[in-house]
Amino acid sequence: MYKMEGKDLKICERCARPSCIHPNICTNLNTDHTAMTNIYKKVNKMHDIKKAFVGSGVRYDMLYNKMASTKEQDSHKEYMTELITNHVSGRLKVAPEHTSDDVLKLMRKPTFKLFYKFKEDFDRINKSANLNQQIIPYFISSHPGSQVKDMANLAVETKNLDFRLEQVQDLTPTPMTVSTVIFYSGIHPYTLEKTYTAKSKSDKQNQRIFLFWYKPEYKRRIESVLKQNNQQELIHQLFSKEKKEVYFSKKNTTNATSRKRRKQNK
Ligand code: SF4
Repeated sequence: MYKMEGKDLKICERCARPSCIHPNICTNLNTDHTAMTNIYKKVNKMHDIKKAFVGSGVRYDMLYNKMASTKEQDSHKEYMTELITNHVSGRLKVAPEHTSDDVLKLMRKPTFKLFYKFKEDFDRINKSANLNQQIIPYFISSHPGSQVKDMANLAVETKNLDFRLEQVQDLTPTPMTVSTVIFYSGIHPYTLEKTYTAKSKSDKQNQRIFLFWYKPEYKRRIESVLKQNNQQELIHQLFSKEKKEVYFSKKNTTNATSRKRRKQNK
């Protein structure tokens, strides 16, 4: 969000919103990425720097701002192309964090549909640049609001996207966050609704195993948890070879092209 600010700062002075980007991107926020892209391009021209890579931290929701002007939208496309073709070292970590929109809302994160869009653009740009790079998504289990059924759906959805998750974490409450307030109080501070959080070792483990559904040692426990939760239909979806149709499905399994490119740049 480098150099992004309100289009009309006088409106910002009177603003009481806790976030400029949640529950939606404020219409007064300028999401133009030109300043950021220009820095990337400036670095490309520095003789003593071979490559500058972005490992993680891309706010891809900003790139799909429906209310953005044509100029902003053009800057989003240019940023994505510059990022993906020149500043990814083979793998780009992004943090959808969950697939359930209900849980994402509690996290104050955008809908998972935007991850599909970003993955689609990522693959398209890679293909046109003759690169074969991967997106590595990061997910959290046992976040407030996350139930076993949400984790089971997360497992099915990421399976259908051909992901074998590796960047995962169990919730660690951190100070000054809405999630932590819910974790300790069991109440959402904005809506005052009671909100479930998996806290016992067993409940946490019953969520975490879904991140690793592909490991044989978890299969029996996953089947048992799904039966207990009346979600037998997901057993078939998770362990059969069939996949639901998604509007992209290609898994990038090697980084040969990007490795070749890095070698050439040495
Ligand atoms: S939410 Fe909008 S109006 Fe408020 S500070 Fe952010 S950009 Fe300005």
